[in-house]
Amino acid sequence: MANLGIYIQVPFCQTKCTYCNFHTGVASPGRFAPYAAAVCHEIGYHRALLESVGVALGDVFRPQSHSVDTVYVGGGTPSLLEPELLADMLQALRTNFECFFTEITLEADPETIDAQKAAQWAAAGFNRISFGTQSFVDEELKAAGRMHRRADIYRAVPILRAVGICNISCDLIAGLPKQTHASWRQSLSEAIALGPEHISIYLMEIDEGSRLGLEVLQNGSRYSAKDIPSEEAMAEFYELAQLELKSAGYVQYEISNWAKPGLESRHNLKYWQRQPYLGFGAGAHSFSGAQRWANRHDAAAYVGAISEGKSAVESVDTLTPALALEEEFFLGLRQLSGIEIGHIERRYGVSLAEKVEELASRGMLEKRGELVRLPANKLSVSNEIMVELLRSVPVVAGAAR
Ligand code: SF4
Repeated sequence: MANLGIYIQVPFCQTKCTYCNFHTGVASPGRFAPYAAAVCHEIGYHRALLESVGVALGDVFRPQSHSVDTVYVGGGTPSLLEPELLADMLQALRTNFECFFTEITLEADPETIDAQKAAQWAAAGFNRISFGTQSFVDEELKAAGRMHRRADIYRAVPILRAVGICNISCDLIAGLPKQTHASWRQSLSEAIALGPEHISIYLMEIDEGSRLGLEVLQNGSRYSAKDIPSEEAMAEFYELAQLELKSAGYVQYEISNWAKPGLESRHNLKYWQRQPYLGFGAGAHSFSGAQRWANRHDAAAYVGAISEGKSAVESVDTLTPALALEEEFFLGLRQLSGIEIGHIERRYGVSLAEKVEELASRGMLEKRGELVRLPANKLSVSNEIMVELLRSVPVVAGAAR
């Protein structure tokens, strides 16, 4: 029986962080229960809803062939929801799928955590918290529009451990406004000292999807846009993180992710390994192996469609061999374990050996038998290497690219 991951999107936040480029919004608590009910309905009727928009599930996701082992409830800030609503969503999964849960993650912001909520999360089955730490420096948190402060992080972690949630992941952002080499070193060392099982490090993205990104692109000064570290500084922050986390016993297993041995995110590994997953909720994405589809982002439109008994899917893409191969590189090579090049050559009928050898001779790839991976010191230029590898394959299995 194959494993299946389930993602549930909760697109609500208390405020909008200046750097946020996600499709999330501030919503009144009165919208939480109807939203959760819509998610439960979508879970209950997913097969009929998907077939109505041309998603061919076939045997994929049937209880006889697939059991759900990982769930990830992300956002947004899903920890804002009443715990009963989160429990309802997990119960809907148990009712509608064969479930052998090994990892159930909840994204939680530090200021939203209290002892009662944490106990209810644990009772519902959540056993992993992905914690929006971002920084341990109040000045940076404030400039970024975050609701929590350093003290909230120290208050929340013991609460989680006390209720038995002992798999904790902390996120840090390299490149926040007002961040310096010294403050980055401080955030890193405080995160390590806190002893989470998993740490994710994200580089600040400057694009027009966020208020801060737009301000930087327009050369403005709002949102502390002038106080963003340079690209060179961000690259140095990342390299420092690689060194410090390694010496603290964390293993880097993906471009942005480090874990204590054996505590990698089982759910997120499915994305990079192109295993099937189903997404529920506004803006949630899904992958069957042959098709990718996505729900509409607007939470009100999502609830409206589901409550009328309609699908909330707004796009369905059937993967060509060329697109699938592109994904093998762009997702697979994010993992430090690398990809099996022989397997890919056989699967897509392509020859990669010559290009791999060339890139390896330039120190851009590492080869170990059939396995090919990015060297740890080249992760910051991963996209360029992936593009070069892809360019060496002009035509894939008869499908012009
Ligand atoms: S909490 Fe996360 S999702 Fe919500 S606004 Fe901030 S960065 Fe965006």
